[in-house]
Amino acid sequence: MPESFVPAMRLALAEARRAFEEGEIPIGAVVLDASGEVIGTGRNDRERSADPTGHAEIVAMRRAASSLGEWRLSGCTLVVTLEPCTMCAGASVQARLDRVVYGAVDPKAGAVGSLWDVVRDRRLNHRPEVVAEVLADECGALLIEFFTDRRVG
Ligand SMILES: [Zn+2]
Repeated sequence: MPESFVPAMRLALAEARRAFEEGEIPIGAVVLDASGEVIGTGRNDRERSADPTGHAEIVAMRRAASSLGEWRLSGCTLVVTLEPCTMCAGASVQARLDRVVYGAVDPKAGAVGSLWDVVRDRRLNHRPEVVAEVLADECGALLIEFFTDRRVG
């Protein structure tokens, strides 16, 4: 099943590259509806929007919800290039997403299996399914490149 999310992850990677070009940490996301159609895209825009919640996942979920005309993203799948943080993992539970698919693992701040496992916490009443490490190397390489450039520049 992870292979079936490769095309969507490529779209999320394209968003991440755009973030990179804009000087933002290169993380991208898309939300798919139940039929697999893209209903929201997002990339990290925290610097440009001066918004602490400007993570790719939040941007993509907001757009998806606005295109559906409701806050519930039941039946939908979030596809993101990096393992979500606590805020985004929490938002994906709040949005009632069916599934969270991510690329690179984030051992320093990941909340979908690494440091925390917010989306599969049995104390919460909704638990999205998780598909980890889709195109993980490509997703991670983009982040490494970004932070290497920064250190040199
Ligand atoms: Zn986040």
